Amino acid sequence: MQQSNRISTLTGGGSDGWDLFVRARGMIATGIDVTELTIGEHDIKTHEDILDAMHASAKGGRTGYSMVPGEDTLRDAVAARTQAATGVPTTRDNVLITPGGQSALFSSHTAACDAGDTALYIDPYYATYPGMIRSVGAHPVSIPASPENDFQVRFEDIDAAAKANPNAKSLLVNSPNNPTGVVYSRATLDGIARACIDNDLWLISDEVYNTQIWEGTHISPRALPDMAERTMVVGSMSKSHAMTGSRVGWIIAPQDVVSNLITLATHTTYGVAGFIQDAAHYALNIGADFEDAVAEPFRRRRALSLDILARQNVVRAVPPQGAMYMMLDIRATGLSGEEFANKLLDAHHIAVMPGESFGKAAAGHIRVAMTIDDDRFASAFETLCDFARSLVKR
Ligand code: PLP
Repeated sequence: MQQSNRISTLTGGGSDGWDLFVRARGMIATGIDVTELTIGEHDIKTHEDILDAMHASAKGGRTGYSMVPGEDTLRDAVAARTQAATGVPTTRDNVLITPGGQSALFSSHTAACDAGDTALYIDPYYATYPGMIRSVGAHPVSIPASPENDFQVRFEDIDAAAKANPNAKSLLVNSPNNPTGVVYSRATLDGIARACIDNDLWLISDEVYNTQIWEGTHISPRALPDMAERTMVVGSMSKSHAMTGSRVGWIIAPQDVVSNLITLATHTTYGVAGFIQDAAHYALNIGADFEDAVAEPFRRRRALSLDILARQNVVRAVPPQGAMYMMLDIRATGLSGEEFANKLLDAHHIAVMPGESFGKAAAGHIRVAMTIDDDRFASAFETLCDFARSLVKR
């Protein structure tokens, strides 16, 4: 039987970017002890108190269909949190609860783009973006943010891409950024806002790492002048509360958009399990200290890696300002990110993601996820730097 063109071409005919990860997992399956610095998953589990809240909710009977838009209590909590952080008036009518940020990305692009429209996004990018855009029938076009500009995207590049693609309906940005760890400056965000207004684009702002800020301030572009009406914010409990497996996130959008998104959810996901929503509501009410504690290990490991980097001069990094990753420039070795990552895996059983998995702009880089315990992390990081030094031709 013939499958749809849309599903058969989701990865654009090329790799989905996960080849090295799959190879590392294959080695682990054969009994090799691989140090995995690949995936954005905490090394802690969902907190016991959150699990107790989930358990109590399920035992209390919240196992039937839940409200498709999300439970009022959770929508109110997300709205209040958003308003407090941004100053933008936000009510439950601006909030749709989704099965994770990934689903929110799909739904927000469905709201912005018709089949055949162009959806713009920034390179380097989170590996699922182009496939997610194709899955709504839109055409992904990337805009480079170069390492020479500290991976901050420039107004001129967005504007040029929008003008070259008259069908462009949306721009997807992600700050704090996966894979680079960059937090967009106010100037970058002003440029993004201006490009969206000038070219009449929806802005889809993926802010799933907004509780992981090491330097500077996270500004939600929805709070910039005239942006609330054209911005959809993607949020998630995955990273802020170590709840990746619970699949709970949200979209913040204008009320008329949320109304249509609810219709979309009715015809697709049919909402998020009630006991998961109750656990999320409980988790959001624990307080900022809890969120800081979830983020703390990454802050520590970032400091450890910056220390190690300062003692050598082959591997360079844009010091990450947020999120759980380090993007390392290994161009001094003369290798591509892919070659370096594969050699490192073979020689030292350390798995990192090639920069090329995240687009063209991060070629010659590797992404290190800071998601294993401090001692093992520091030792792997030292080995990585020594390995890079050994590759430099003298
Ligand atoms: N956006 C970015 C930038 C991510 O890195 C991830 C996950 O790694 C997601 C969205 C999806 O998160 P989730 O679907 O778990 O909420």
